[in-house]
Amino acid sequence: MTRRVAVAAALVVLTLLVGSRWVTNRSAVLANQRSTVPTAPATGVAQPPPAPEVTPSSTPVPTHVAAPKPKPKRAGSGPFGSLRTTGRKQVALTFDDGPHPVWTPQVLDRLKTANVKATFCVVGSQVRKHPELVRRIVREGHTLCNHSWNHELDLGTKSVKEIKANLELTNNEIRKAVPNAKIAYFRHPGGKWTANAVSVARSLGMQPLDWDVDPRDWEIKDAKVIGSRVIGGARSGSIILMHDGGGDRKGTLSACPNVIKNLKTRFGIAPLR
Ligand SMILES: [Zn+2]
Repeated sequence: MTRRVAVAAALVVLTLLVGSRWVTNRSAVLANQRSTVPTAPATGVAQPPPAPEVTPSSTPVPTHVAAPKPKPKRAGSGPFGSLRTTGRKQVALTFDDGPHPVWTPQVLDRLKTANVKATFCVVGSQVRKHPELVRRIVREGHTLCNHSWNHELDLGTKSVKEIKANLELTNNEIRKAVPNAKIAYFRHPGGKWTANAVSVARSLGMQPLDWDVDPRDWEIKDAKVIGSRVIGGARSGSIILMHDGGGDRKGTLSACPNVIKNLKTRFGIAPLR
């Protein structure tokens, strides 16, 4: 019995010894592991953060200073994302191919009488001849739209460089008449949109402006037909195309009062901004 107790005691002592040895070894391992972690210098002086690693291939070298991009515009439901509707209940009136010395002042008079604002898609070569009409358009609170230099129907098929030159020439002419004029829209002649025409217009900060209702007032002169086409075709948010230049616009002019009265009552008429 005594021997058994002695053996048991010896085993306990042995176990304790082995255990403490393991703990000692384990502590040494942990100490070694920690020693691989950098420690703060004992001096208490803050070290500067390590410089970020720079690899020449990952650093783009700026070759030019980018011009501020025009703010992104709402995409419309027309060709290439051009605007076909206003995006609200009110409809918008647009008049193309002016300014014209006979028709534009009379259209402006009709709009003034009705207290309605519209958008004028002007042709650069006409702007050069009648800058005073562009000044009146702006003075009376209407919106300007670039409609190319000389109504080139095939403009969109030209090179990007040519399209850009055409639109810039037109904008420059408008700004000769009205310095700092806001020209927020471009309408392609005949609505013959191309991807290039749209992207050039956007790059110049102009939103492509299509239309929803075309009464074809450029080929008919009957005011009643023009009026009923506009009134019949208009729906909530329609952008309506009419003309104040490019030919005899007596029919359009005569249709204006009824058209304006009807659209105002049904939807309201608001300018594009
Ligand atoms: Zn036109």
